[in-house]
Amino acid sequence: MKKYDVIVVGLGAMGSASLSQLAQRGVSVLGIDRFSPPHGHGSSHGDTRITRTAIGEGVEYSELALRSHTLWRAIEAATGKQLFRRNGCLTITGADAVVMHDVDDFFANISTAAKRYNIPYQTFDTPEAIAKRYPQFAVRSGDHAILDEEAGYLFPEACVAAQLQLAERAGATLVRDTPVMAIDPAADGVEIATADGQRFAADRVVIAAGAWLPRFVAQDLARHFTVTRQVLHWFEIKSHPERFTDANCPVFIWQVPKQADIRSSIYGFPINGDPSLGVKVTHEEDGGVTDPDSVNRTVTADESARVYRTYIEPFLPDLGPRCLRTETCMYTRVDRSRFVIDNDPRSERVTFVSACSGHGFKHSAAIGEALAQQIADGRTTHVDLEPFRLSRLASYLRAG
Ligand SMILES: Cc1cc2nc3c(=O)[nH]c(=O)nc-3n(C[C@H](O)[C@H](O)[C@H](O)COP(=O)(O)OP(=O)(O)OC[C@H]3O[C@@H](n4cnc5c(N)ncnc54)[C@H](O)[C@@H]3O)c2cc1C
Repeated sequence: MKKYDVIVVGLGAMGSASLSQLAQRGVSVLGIDRFSPPHGHGSSHGDTRITRTAIGEGVEYSELALRSHTLWRAIEAATGKQLFRRNGCLTITGADAVVMHDVDDFFANISTAAKRYNIPYQTFDTPEAIAKRYPQFAVRSGDHAILDEEAGYLFPEACVAAQLQLAERAGATLVRDTPVMAIDPAADGVEIATADGQRFAADRVVIAAGAWLPRFVAQDLARHFTVTRQVLHWFEIKSHPERFTDANCPVFIWQVPKQADIRSSIYGFPINGDPSLGVKVTHEEDGGVTDPDSVNRTVTADESARVYRTYIEPFLPDLGPRCLRTETCMYTRVDRSRFVIDNDPRSERVTFVSACSGHGFKHSAAIGEALAQQIADGRTTHVDLEPFRLSRLASYLRAG
């Protein structure tokens, strides 16, 4: 049985970044995935992901996003692929706003982070100021907004493909379409067993299995991770397509006002390519606990019509009811949208990365680098993973 220094299980956002960074440090590394990444079965698909740097989920995430921006640019240069467009992120809030990502101070944290990390930003203190610059948003009395100017959007499939390309170029071995069934740590190393009966050995294993992660950790840890179904919608542009170009439309998050049928924020993107394909704009599903092997991937016309009536029409009147495309995806959530990145308490040889609570993509390049540094050099140089350790989890858990 061939023995590697490290095996990375799962090659989506976190795994492809970890694999690439390990390989580039001269570590002998095997990456293995149950599908053939980039693919549409996990959490890293659907054309675009918002990347923000003044982070509402907590200022401690800003270092990760800022470092990732440097890394995305470096990966673009190394592969010739476009991964990142910088066009800002506008966050709108107002009276009785829904809570974003389970974080009460989400909006306030954005300006705190921008000031702390010298991130360029603009504020819009009245609905009139927002509407003057961004007439596509039907804002209400009391609404105000902040624009993170360093933000923009990433192309997730291209990011994963580019990191895998760099990993292979640096000598990593990739095994695709091969589910890992068991990870067995022992005193002298870790063995993994695959569904087709292969066994591989390594000194260490990094588990980056996304929504499948709960299967690989102890039960008392897995119970903190909730996998939910999320649906992406692309709606037609009915009027004023010019309002949805990169120049006129930053990516946006809108903490819309709470109502009986409105329970979550909406977010969206500018036109990505052909305007006749519509724009991706959707809301965050707050229920729908699921399992990655049985998640309902059928999106009915009724479901899209309900999303349009409730979350799109009242706020983005230039978009029409015709839903041109949908995709189903999964969040792996922890209370207050925390990340959990640490060694398995049962073995120092096993490190798990994620859950990343529905906002991990933008941070994945820096997380992969930091994990690789920890493993290869024993310390990180650009970001601190300490705030995301298991020992910090207890302080974020909601009662019950
Ligand atoms: C709808 C949606 C919108 C989002 N929007 C944003 C956003 O705008 N900005 C942002 O920053 N983040 C966003 N996120 C979150 C972000 O996309 C995720 O945090 C991130 O992609 C998760 O990466 P991952 O590597 O943990 O999981 P994945 O990318 O899903 O990778 C896990 C991999 O593990 C593999 N795997 C699983 N089990 C096994 C096994 N047994 N053996 C081998 N391989 C296995 C899977 O096949 C998969 O390839 C969004 C997520 C969703 C679902």
